[in-house]
Amino acid sequence: MAEHTDVAVIGAGPAGLAVGACLRKAGLNFVIFERAQKLASSWHRHYERLHLHTVKQLSSLPYVPFPATYPRYVPKNLVIAYLESYASNFDLQPRFGDAVRIVRRDGNDWLIEGALSSVRARHVVIASGFNAEPVMPSIPGIEKFRSKVIHSAQYVNAEPFAGQDVLVIGMGNTGAEVALDLCEGGARTSISLRDGVHIVPRELLRHSDSDRRNARDQSAPFAVERKTFPGHSRFGSRRPLEAWDQATERRHFATGCEFVQNSGHRRWHGAKNLRRSDQDTAGNLHNR
Ligand SMILES: Cc1cc2nc3c(=O)[nH]c(=O)nc-3n(C[C@H](O)[C@H](O)[C@H](O)COP(=O)(O)OP(=O)(O)OC[C@H]3O[C@@H](n4cnc5c(N)ncnc54)[C@H](O)[C@@H]3O)c2cc1C
Repeated sequence: MAEHTDVAVIGAGPAGLAVGACLRKAGLNFVIFERAQKLASSWHRHYERLHLHTVKQLSSLPYVPFPATYPRYVPKNLVIAYLESYASNFDLQPRFGDAVRIVRRDGNDWLIEGALSSVRARHVVIASGFNAEPVMPSIPGIEKFRSKVIHSAQYVNAEPFAGQDVLVIGMGNTGAEVALDLCEGGARTSISLRDGVHIVPRELLRHSDSDRRNARDQSAPFAVERKTFPGHSRFGSRRPLEAWDQATERRHFATGCEFVQNSGHRRWHGAKNLRRSDQDTAGNLHNR
């Protein structure tokens, strides 16, 4: 007979740990299943240079702020240290290596079957990560590209790319940060943007980029973009006309202009709307 608990939590990333802490405070019994051998496994796998893109005041888990000694944008190794200490504060003991395979209804309970154990629970919280699995877009012709093609989830640092032409596809937080890392690591880096992107300072009048992104009306701070980064056309990108995209009801993405400034203008090339890839794509872009 499977053991019984109030709540089964699937995943010991930040979300699963936060839920565990709240359940502990509420005095409920729970089990945390984790398929990896350590907690916050996704943060262990992320690239070396990664810092939180959100300010630490908005990024901590319930009840425990990041330590005052941590920088405003917390580096990956300190995020991991924080999560480990958080787990130990609340005596969270995930069942490592116990990947959940089946969750099914069993009378009034749920039956959760993991690789190593089974549990009956009144409630299940799925915290297995919305972006835990890399999604590789299908780009026609990519199979003919004879050099290496990797997903950012496989990127560790710039070392293997030094002295080479590299095209980064996408200029969200990850694309911009990886491109900067590559530039500084000696790769000749190009970046491809599907659409316009706002390029603004990470910090503006003491408000971070992430503070501004949470506000729907972003027009005022973005006026500053015209002053701080007037060079869109020089790089082949364009500035979105609005902060908010009415059609998709989503905000236009914004990235820190530190990326462009620090990478050195000469080594940064915008490439609009990559539709096709072939052997020469990176080289051609670089020669624009
Ligand atoms: C490069 C990068 C940078 C980011 N930067 C930020 C940032 O600055 N600020 C921010 O707020 N967010 C950021 N994010 C978003 C990020 O997803 C979150 O920070 C956070 O890791 C999500 O936590 P999570 O617990 O939901 O998922 P995850 O961290 O993915 O954790 C899910 C856990 O569930 C486990 N799991 C999965 N399936 C099973 C199963 N079947 N059984 C048992 N266990 C399972 C996994 O092994 C994993 O440990 C970033 C993401 C990436 C990829």
